[in-house]
Amino acid sequence: MRDDVSLENDLREAVTKGKLQVAYQPLVELDSGRIAGMEALVRWNHPLRGPVPPVEFIPVAEAVGLIGVIGEQVLRAACAQFAAIQASDPGGTLRSVSVNLSRAQLREPTLVGVIADALRCNGMQAAQLQLEITESLAAQDHGVQARLREIKALGVTLALDDFGTGYSSLSCLHELPIDTVKIDRAFVSLAQTSDYHRVLIEATILVARTLRMNTVAEGIETIGQAELMRALGCTKGQGYLFSAPLSGAALVEWMQGNTAPG
Ligand code: C2E
Ligand code: MG
Ligand code: MG
Repeated sequence: MRDDVSLENDLREAVTKGKLQVAYQPLVELDSGRIAGMEALVRWNHPLRGPVPPVEFIPVAEAVGLIGVIGEQVLRAACAQFAAIQASDPGGTLRSVSVNLSRAQLREPTLVGVIADALRCNGMQAAQLQLEITESLAAQDHGVQARLREIKALGVTLALDDFGTGYSSLSCLHELPIDTVKIDRAFVSLAQTSDYHRVLIEATILVARTLRMNTVAEGIETIGQAELMRALGCTKGQGYLFSAPLSGAALVEWMQGNTAPG
């Protein structure tokens, strides 16, 4: 309990002083190995504890009302980083940046204005931003559905993250205004050994394709997993096989070294 309170206080201070950082993980085309986009992932390096994983501090931020400001900081940093990469690489191999949204942010009436402002400030087209939501239960929440439609009306695309976990089901896919389904790492890592997981991935890809949605396989760690996901029809992948999340500068270096033909 004491620990929770001190974590909360330290987080509040880190947010106020702008100490949170953002790492970027490339998303690649599985057929060519080329970069397609990047996902922004928040990082907190605590002065005494060292790196605190987002799965530990995001729930704290949600509980104490800090998620709105953290989300805005990450969104603005990610858009600025995307614009900087575009400026140095006019060929534009990087097509989009993805930012995670938590459910609490979807309840904030200011969210849509903040997104529009972040795009405008960085000279971005709306289609260059993708927002990731995990809540498939959102399909049943009319307030959240309305907010998602407002975001879509800006021209921003939406991804359903961690698909296959929690209460997500194939039937919720057509109820949400999403463009991309991200297949959770738990499924990807079992696909080679478990028929059940492989068949579910195949079914997900088929349903997504029928609904004209893209698919991304998360947490690809081996060549075998990448090949299987591609054979199953998944178009994009993300994972340590390609790259761990990197600083903005390191991602630019990674892009320069990633000269996969395509
Ligand atoms: P996510 O959005 O599904 O992000 C993918 C997570 O998997 C990241 O963990 C990433 O570092 C990790 N990962 C990527 N490739 C591999 C791999 O090949 N193997 C393994 N074992 N892991 C891999 P991370 O950065 O610790 O983030 C965890 C979760 O925290 C994210 O899952 C997301 O739900 C949440 N999160 C991260 N940043 C933010 C943020 O800015 N805002 C919000 N609301 N949530 C965030
Ligand atoms: Mg994500
Ligand atoms: Mg995920």
